[in-house]
Amino acid sequence: MNFKEIIEHVYHKVKNVEDTGKLPTYIPQLANVDTENFGVYISTTDQVNFGIGNCYDKFSIQSIAKVLSLSLAYQLLGEKVWERVGVEPSGTPFNSLVQLETDNGIPRNPFINAGAIVISDILVSSLKNPKEDFLTFVRSICNNSDLNYSSRIAASEKEIGFRNVALCNFIKSFGNIKNDPSEVLEFYFDLCSIEMNCKELSETFLFLANNGQNVIDNTTILSSSQTKRINALMLTCGFYDESGDFAFKVGLPGKSGVGGGIIAIHPNHYAIAVWSPKLNQKGNSYKGMRFLEEFTTKSELSIF
Ligand code: GLN
Repeated sequence: MNFKEIIEHVYHKVKNVEDTGKLPTYIPQLANVDTENFGVYISTTDQVNFGIGNCYDKFSIQSIAKVLSLSLAYQLLGEKVWERVGVEPSGTPFNSLVQLETDNGIPRNPFINAGAIVISDILVSSLKNPKEDFLTFVRSICNNSDLNYSSRIAASEKEIGFRNVALCNFIKSFGNIKNDPSEVLEFYFDLCSIEMNCKELSETFLFLANNGQNVIDNTTILSSSQTKRINALMLTCGFYDESGDFAFKVGLPGKSGVGGGIIAIHPNHYAIAVWSPKLNQKGNSYKGMRFLEEFTTKSELSIF
């Protein structure tokens, strides 16, 4: 079977599996989605692409955007980024506060909320118009001007984001947030609200499978060493306290979001996006994880 046939086969199999996941209700507007949605799209570095199911329906990419904000901060600051955020798996849920106290306000990694809020602070300091400039960056790496924030999702999260407000203020008390916390959080909630479909998501992330270069116009987004490091962080930290499980079962660097999306990267080969809104207990898409596990097992296209 070629990889398209394997995707079709695994898609239909996983579609019929009973989904034991639940919609996230803590961001009210995220629960406002049809739970039957299930889409997959793969983009390869040699530009063979294939999608199935709801792969053209937009969804909220949420924490997947943390990889893009890190990429831009890394492009702008280089290795200085790691003075403000660590590179160790946290082994804690995405919104945990506990390690910040012993770690003096340095978040364990850039993919837990604490780390992504510090990266947001860096971008608020470094960009002239953070909201506009970040969107310009994302559009350029996807070669697509049809990408946008969702004001509906951002507003919904701003209303209930008390945990993130606490995280940001707590980190500020250690001196690791330089700007006004409300400005940093405004930017953080906006970036989490970006909407993409699976096709756009896999196209946006293809540069991480292509040594940091845009596949379409060959521009350099990150150096190959920086790209290696971001992929390493996705492998070790991309799924919070389920990162080990994802590496064990899927064997690819990846990143999830509470909107039910997952992106996974096979360096030098492909980027694959999966979307199914119901989440397991760790906040990662139930069917998304199942699909990717069976896909890399059947196709033998994992990094291990
Ligand atoms: N915007 C979400 C939050 O901060 C992102 C979490 C996620 O996708 N895991 O809670």
